[in-house]
Amino acid sequence: MLYVVPTPIGNLEDITLRALRVLKEVSVVLAEDTRTSRRLLDHYGIKTPLRAFHAHNEHAVVEKVAAELAAGAIMALVSDAGTPGISDPGFLLVRACVQQGVRVECLPGPTAFVPALVASGLPCDTFHFDGFLPHKKGRQTRLKFLAELPYTFVLYESPFRLIKCLDELIVVCGPDRPACVARELTKMFEEVKPATLAELRAHFGAKDVKGEIVLVVGGKEKSQNVKVKM
Ligand code: SAM
Repeated sequence: MLYVVPTPIGNLEDITLRALRVLKEVSVVLAEDTRTSRRLLDHYGIKTPLRAFHAHNEHAVVEKVAAELAAGAIMALVSDAGTPGISDPGFLLVRACVQQGVRVECLPGPTAFVPALVASGLPCDTFHFDGFLPHKKGRQTRLKFLAELPYTFVLYESPFRLIKCLDELIVVCGPDRPACVARELTKMFEEVKPATLAELRAHFGAKDVKGEIVLVVGGKEKSQNVKVKM
């Protein structure tokens, strides 16, 4: 059996009682970075052994791990932060488990895009999550696709590329499209800034942008008449 266990995206209080119990009870925790996860487990006094499972070895080890699980092992999968499989390794292993009839339980828990989406004030009844945009090939096609969506879309972005991304979005969506930058969620310097794309460009262009960022952008039709107060 495989447990997929979300871990905090900043605030260590954001872990469920069930996640702590599962991490304690499994025989192995598969971790994106064993040093990061060791610190997390140490914080909660959990001694379970860790094994590396990350983007660079997942293709090589996924079948072996799935075979161990199919033979009866009980493991948990964690990533550095948030929910495994969401812009993090996890999908390949879960798919292999599903294909081999291994039971998978994904615990509900932290992920960055949900609090960003909900706090943005943009419609969240229907939305599109696009994770990280490709850096080069396919980027423009993706941006044009996103600009036409009639509902809110959500992106993960690095602080070093936020301004470039806002500039590109202004070109395809127009400067007045409502949006929101959610930065450092759950951490000491959390900032959730709803504004138009042009206002966000002006705000973040005037300072050195740091920290982790989720960018939420209103859809083409529904959000056109939404007024954003700065
Ligand atoms: N698995 C994670 C999840 O469930 O959200 C996402 C991992 S992805 C490698 C890391 C990206 O998530 C960051 O670059 C940022 O875009 C977003 N992110 C993670 N933690 C965040 C936070 N505390 N505040 C804002 N964005 C965050």
